[in-house]
Amino acid sequence: MFEAPSALSSRISSELPSVPSESPLIGPVDAHVHLFPEFSDFAQRRTVSFLNAVSESDWEAVCRAVQCLERNAEALGRNFEQNAELRSGDFKPNAELQVVPFLGIHPWAVLSAEAGWEERLEALLRRMPIAGVGEIGLDAWKPELQSDAAVCRQKTFFQRQLALAVELDRPVSIHCVRAWDHLWELARPILAGKPIPLLFHAFSGSPQIVSQILQKEKWNAFFSIASFRFHPDRPKSRELLHAIPRERLLLETDAESAEDALSLETLCRNAAECLRIPESELSDQILKNVRLFFGR
Ligand SMILES: [Zn+2]
Repeated sequence: MFEAPSALSSRISSELPSVPSESPLIGPVDAHVHLFPEFSDFAQRRTVSFLNAVSESDWEAVCRAVQCLERNAEALGRNFEQNAELRSGDFKPNAELQVVPFLGIHPWAVLSAEAGWEERLEALLRRMPIAGVGEIGLDAWKPELQSDAAVCRQKTFFQRQLALAVELDRPVSIHCVRAWDHLWELARPILAGKPIPLLFHAFSGSPQIVSQILQKEKWNAFFSIASFRFHPDRPKSRELLHAIPRERLLLETDAESAEDALSLETLCRNAAECLRIPESELSDQILKNVRLFFGR
């Protein structure tokens, strides 16, 4: 059951844990992950995790997971209310946060979303200045989402959430599966002259799409390679990894379970090997990219 954002954030602020004396940044970055029962244990071992909501039913749990982590409490300050009062656009997430929340409605969840979602999402985002918008997007692959009505709903949800991200100046985590034509058509007018950071998660496009996004559209985009899609023995995986400019690359698990979340280390190792660079160099580059993603 969803709580009013004001009640939610005041309750969370009273539950913040004590601030740790030091918290070194070590380990890899998971640029796209979902909630699962052992999430906090994993997040403690990661430099940064971008935690994505799927539907309104997990917005509250995402907010709670984000604020209960010690390094987040330190970065946010104990008095979260004070931060929440900052005008939108004045405060950006940064690489010192251990978990960055992304709140939104996934294309797979648009059919079950309840009326009024847009107002509730906007209100919660305004109270969570550190939150990005995600996971949002377009999916032309899942069979039950291909009726005219479902495609129309997907487009409406994507359009409105992207516009909200632009209005509030927030980064966005985007799911786009075989729906690039719809994406160009919908996103172009919204993003024109608005360089908000876009993360194409579990990126499965071609090298041509990478250059279309960066050179033609000139979007401030990052491409996240997912462990379940990256097969170092397949030429297509290797070609795509090499086609992504190094300073635009992120890695992720898209995990919904502890077992899947473990795949990040293997992905880092395989990606570094494929790029013929030491794993530590790749980790450093990715941390730099996270800072770049948040405009720092
Ligand atoms: Zn996801």
